[in-house]
Amino acid sequence: MKAMVIGCGGVATVTVHKCFQNSEVFSEIVLASRTKEKCVALAKKLEGGKTKITPEKVDAENIPELVALINKHKPDIVLNLALPYQNIPIMEACLQTKTHYLDTALSEHREIVKYDYEEQWGYHERFKEAGIMALLGCGFDPGVTSVFVTYAQKHYFDQIEYIDILDANGGDHGYPFATNFNPEINIREVSADGSYWENGKFVPVKCMEIKRTYNFDTIGQRDIYLMYHEEIDSIVKYVKGLKRVRFFMSFGQSYITHLKCLENVGMTSIKPIMFEGREIVPLRFLRAVLPDPASLGPRTKGYTNIGCIITGKKNGKEVKYYVYNICSHEESYKEVGSQAVSYTAGVPPMIGAMLMLKGVWSGAGVFNMEQFDPDPFMEALNRWGLPWKEDFDPELVE
Ligand code: NDP
Repeated sequence: MKAMVIGCGGVATVTVHKCFQNSEVFSEIVLASRTKEKCVALAKKLEGGKTKITPEKVDAENIPELVALINKHKPDIVLNLALPYQNIPIMEACLQTKTHYLDTALSEHREIVKYDYEEQWGYHERFKEAGIMALLGCGFDPGVTSVFVTYAQKHYFDQIEYIDILDANGGDHGYPFATNFNPEINIREVSADGSYWENGKFVPVKCMEIKRTYNFDTIGQRDIYLMYHEEIDSIVKYVKGLKRVRFFMSFGQSYITHLKCLENVGMTSIKPIMFEGREIVPLRFLRAVLPDPASLGPRTKGYTNIGCIITGKKNGKEVKYYVYNICSHEESYKEVGSQAVSYTAGVPPMIGAMLMLKGVWSGAGVFNMEQFDPDPFMEALNRWGLPWKEDFDPELVE
């Protein structure tokens, strides 16, 4: 089958490698991005295998351009691995061409930092009428974390009450400050105020206000900070009877000190300013001087550990359950030339697309990961490089 991958950055590079490894399903990939040279280089690297890769150029914010490209190649599915600013135009183009759609992150608009699924969920009826499927948030977090929750619900709980999603990166790239995925998207996310969900509503918290420490398997003790994260929205929509859902991410002291300093001097602002006669956005300028996340691959050592601690009841008894994946930066680099943050985010889109193309996960409309049987996805994680571990007596987060 033919997939069109849009974007050719850290995450897309991993997904294309994984589709290439799975040539039984993905016989052809059209790889289209803003900078065509990157697509040409990746296609060249993977030349000679069973999967044919065709590089293309596209501005994914230009709907007619996208429609023309989709009509030219007629892919069975479009994998949006560009930036969250492009979700809506790509969904529009899929609608116009009646093509299945998949993404890994919630839609964003450049001018405002605001996270909610309403805009993308608003496409449900139109996708349904067109008889096509959109799968939202099919990366690791969001993505696998939601599948972990539905797997726990299916196999171990009558009622889940508390969920803590923990995302820890124990990797060291040797730079005083760098982001592991797109710097602009990453800094917008981590410098925003946070929130968690409790008893039916979101509780707002200041940025980095809630800090805990947790002793992670393989990577050890880390400081973790409460943040808003989009899977909270879909989890509370589809898993009923919950009392609380929180998301924590690990940050080292050097990262936080640099981020605070950059914030204090205005470098993380998304408001345009005049500089030497032209308008610039400070955060985008900052992105241009920070290391390209793709360049971190060969330098990063250590592991990531991402998973969900879930508590609740089964047959009237209290149950504690922790399911997580540990991923090695160095092994990821050896396999596909990218570090583990891109790897953990880049394998799930291939799995999601495979399940859609095989009709294992199917439907017409806009869907989140929680709406499907988790078992085939969990099996595929073990097979395609993201094996998971279970702990039935984990340390809980206070
Ligand atoms: P990168 O910045 O490495 O790559 C983004 C790619 O999109 C680049 O190739 C870029 O082109 C391309 N692009 C940007 N604008 C356009 C445009 N207008 N038209 C066409 N192509 C465009 O980002 P990442 O790979 O790190 O992240 C990709 C996505 O994955 C993001 O949405 C991110 O939020 C998401 N993500 C999800 C995770 C998860 O677990 N769910 C984890 C990490 C990331 P160019 O090369 O010209 O810049």
